Amino acid sequence: MNERERAAGLAPLLLAWFERHGRRNLPWQRDPTPYRVWVSEIMLQQTQVPTVIPYFERFVQRFPDVRSLAAAPVDEVLHLWSGLGYYARARNLHDAARRVAADFGGEFPPTVEEATGLPGIGRSTAGAILALSRRERHPILDGNVRRVLARCFAVEGWPGERAVDTRLWDLAEACTPHEEVDRYTQAIMDLGATICTRSKPACHGCPLGPVCLAKAQGLQASLPTPRPVKRDKPLRKVCMLVAVDGEDRVLLEQRPARGIWGGLWSFPEFRDVDEATAWAAAHLGVHAGTLEPWSPLRHSFTHFDLDIVPLRLLLPRSAPAVAEPGHVWYNHRAPAKLGLAAPVAALIKKL
Ligand code: SF4
Repeated sequence: MNERERAAGLAPLLLAWFERHGRRNLPWQRDPTPYRVWVSEIMLQQTQVPTVIPYFERFVQRFPDVRSLAAAPVDEVLHLWSGLGYYARARNLHDAARRVAADFGGEFPPTVEEATGLPGIGRSTAGAILALSRRERHPILDGNVRRVLARCFAVEGWPGERAVDTRLWDLAEACTPHEEVDRYTQAIMDLGATICTRSKPACHGCPLGPVCLAKAQGLQASLPTPRPVKRDKPLRKVCMLVAVDGEDRVLLEQRPARGIWGGLWSFPEFRDVDEATAWAAAHLGVHAGTLEPWSPLRHSFTHFDLDIVPLRLLLPRSAPAVAEPGHVWYNHRAPAKLGLAAPVAALIKKL
């Protein structure tokens, strides 16, 4: 079988499998408007389907269309995203909704080129949205599809390299059928998520067995080729001041819009105990020795690990107000709608 025959054989096998085994009743598949598919694609970028479902349903109930999302304050968007992680996705979605409302009359852009001009939308996401909602023929190449194609066509080399990426896009283009492109798109994403998984792919039950080169040559475990050298993650450390007032409220500050947990609310952060003590003395009128360090909490990011040392500070009932903007006293019993960084939510629970 040559490459052209292999590419032509892929879609019929996938569509027949999808008919019998595909996921066809997910919330975003009912009434698949570009907006709903867009929200689901962004949520699914780093998160599994079962986790996304309740977040998606709450999100589209509150923001049923582009205009309602565009009109909302970013804090409310982040609040609905709290717990889903990778908050840049939410900020980008919100920014993009504003641009779609302003520049495209509230309709998702008509072409992949225009869609990829929006924050948070790459070529594959744009193609998936247009294929799934408008049934237009566009290739896609998300992580799952990349794995399926690298294995079926035995493509060697790390997909992060430009030449390998180009080769995979060419294959994605060659495999995308002219009919039933919405079902094909869903099918190949589902196959990568459920059968052709990263470790231990279920080749015995895979519909692509007859055309898969990796299966024929026993290369499943080595494809796609992993990133060449793995760097050790650096470890950073911060102290967080967990100030609790006499009414059981905690002091939070809003983080800068860019950077980790951008725009979310967090405990005031310091390099060390001395810096935290000096700040507490200046702003809360308390003195050295009153901060109680708790054991560190480790949080992993893609590029580094962060050790957070919580410094608890119990204040008398009449806690002085912090005059600087961007600070609130947060009542966890009647919480305001604020987006909280995950370790902050965990610490508040612990309190
Ligand atoms: S046969 Fe195995 S390696 Fe090939 S596509 Fe199917 S699950 Fe993946």
